[in-house]
Amino acid sequence: MEFGRRQFVGGWGAMVTQAVAPGTRPHDAPRASPAHEDAGAGAVHERFMRLAVEQARRNPAFPFGAVIVAVRTGEILASGVNATEDSPVLHGEVAAMNDYVRRHGNHGWAGTTLYTTGEPCPMCVSAMAWADLRRVVWGSSIEEIRRTGIHQMALSAREAAACARSFYSPDMFLGGVLADCTDRLFQEARRLRRRGAGAARFGREGM
Ligand SMILES: [Zn+2]
Repeated sequence: MEFGRRQFVGGWGAMVTQAVAPGTRPHDAPRASPAHEDAGAGAVHERFMRLAVEQARRNPAFPFGAVIVAVRTGEILASGVNATEDSPVLHGEVAAMNDYVRRHGNHGWAGTTLYTTGEPCPMCVSAMAWADLRRVVWGSSIEEIRRTGIHQMALSAREAAACARSFYSPDMFLGGVLADCTDRLFQEARRLRRRGAGAARFGREGM
């Protein structure tokens, strides 16, 4: 279990983290504990992250999977997986957001949490800001994903969201959930891409 590296943002004035495991990278540095998280939240986040991992397995070479969950009921509202072979903007998070709109319309975002196997890139954070989707949970960090050979813009999800602070105030940005599992997924993906004939083509694809 890798929940120890979890991070929280409770509004921009209180960027917080708790239960940081030994070996935590500086990027994941602890800050404080969020008042709104209860003891059972970790298990809940892990349960939904496993569903994001299931989605990610649909694209083993680029295992970016996402699910969108109703905060109040836990209902799975939408899902998606990286489909950048079809369109460069179809990162897992965007695919899940498109699926959400198809099923539920373009409203109700504030009552949802998006779970994604990888830390959202600036494009996906922008989509979240435009939607006012305020709760985001991810597994592997951008740095870890980059280490597995996938290009990533050098801007963390928090930094990207901070650029939108004049109109966007996330309730929770939480990273490192099941990161052992999602890191392994990205490491396996690198081996798969190296074996695959399309390795060169894959090089520019992000999450
Ligand atoms: Zn993205």
